[in-house]
Amino acid sequence: MIKIKDLMASIEDKQILNGINLNINPGEVHVIMGRNGSGKSTLANVIAGNEAYEVEKGSILMNNENITEMSIENRALNGIFLCFQYPVAIPGVSMAYFLRSALNAHLEHQGKEEIDALEFLKNSKKILNELGLDDSFLKRAINDGFSGGEKKKSEILQLLSINPKLAVLDETDSGLDVDALRTVAKGVNKFKNKNNAVLIITHYQRLLNYIKPDIVHLMIDGKIVKTGDMSLVEKVENDGYSWLEK
Ligand code: ADP
Ligand code: MG
Repeated sequence: MIKIKDLMASIEDKQILNGINLNINPGEVHVIMGRNGSGKSTLANVIAGNEAYEVEKGSILMNNENITEMSIENRALNGIFLCFQYPVAIPGVSMAYFLRSALNAHLEHQGKEEIDALEFLKNSKKILNELGLDDSFLKRAINDGFSGGEKKKSEILQLLSINPKLAVLDETDSGLDVDALRTVAKGVNKFKNKNNAVLIITHYQRLLNYIKPDIVHLMIDGKIVKTGDMSLVEKVENDGYSWLEK
C-alpha cells in the first residue's frame, strides 16, 4: 500500500529524516517508536503531504503510484489520513459541517453521490455512540474547548466517518485515561480490515495491548534503526533507546 524509499526530509533547513525505508501492506498495523525529537511526527506529516516539510531525496509510493509530489488534498482524497498529535481548534466551524464536507469531498472524488443530511446524521450518531460521545458533539466547533480525550476521540470520529486507506495515528493515545484509551483502541480496531493499514506512533505499550501490531519500528535521529515484533516494544519499555546506539 505504501512504499517509502530512502526518504530524506527537512524543515526550515533543518535535516530531520535521514533515509527512511518503510513498506506497509494492506491489512497490516505498523508501530513507530522513538525518542522525542527523533522525527516521528515529521515522517507522519511528510506522508500526509504537509508542505511545510521539504523532501530532499527518496520517494513515497502509494499502490505503486509515486505520490512524493502530490498535494496534501489529493493524498487525503486518495486515502491517507493523519490523526494529529496536537489537533487544532477551529472556532466557528461545527464538527457536523466539517465532517459532512470532508465526507462529501471523498464521495465526489469517488464519483459517488453526496450523502444526504439524514443519512449523515444517522451514521454519525452510530459512531458517536460507539465512542461514548453525546450527539451534541456534532454541534460543537472543531476541537474548541474539547478536553484532551475529546480531541483524540474527535480524530477517531473523523477516521471512522471518512474510512481512509492508510491511517497514521500520531500519539493518539497520549494523555488519555484508561477508559478513553480503550474507546480509542476500539475505534481503531473497528476501522482496520484486510484492505486498509494503520501506522501508529506511540511512546507506550498500553495502546498496543488493545491494538495488536504486526511490525514494530524503532527510530533514532530520523532513521529506522530496528524493525521487529511486539517484543521490541517491551524492550523499549524496560531499557529505553540507548542500547540501539551501541
Ligand atoms: P517527534 O515527533 O519524534 O518527537 P518531530 O518530528 O516532531 O519529532 O521533530 C523532529 C525535530 O524536528 C525536532 O528537533 C523538532 O524540533 C524539529 N522540528 C519539527 N518541526 C519544526 C519546525 N516547524 N521548525 C523547526 N524545527 C522543527
Ligand atoms: Mg511527535
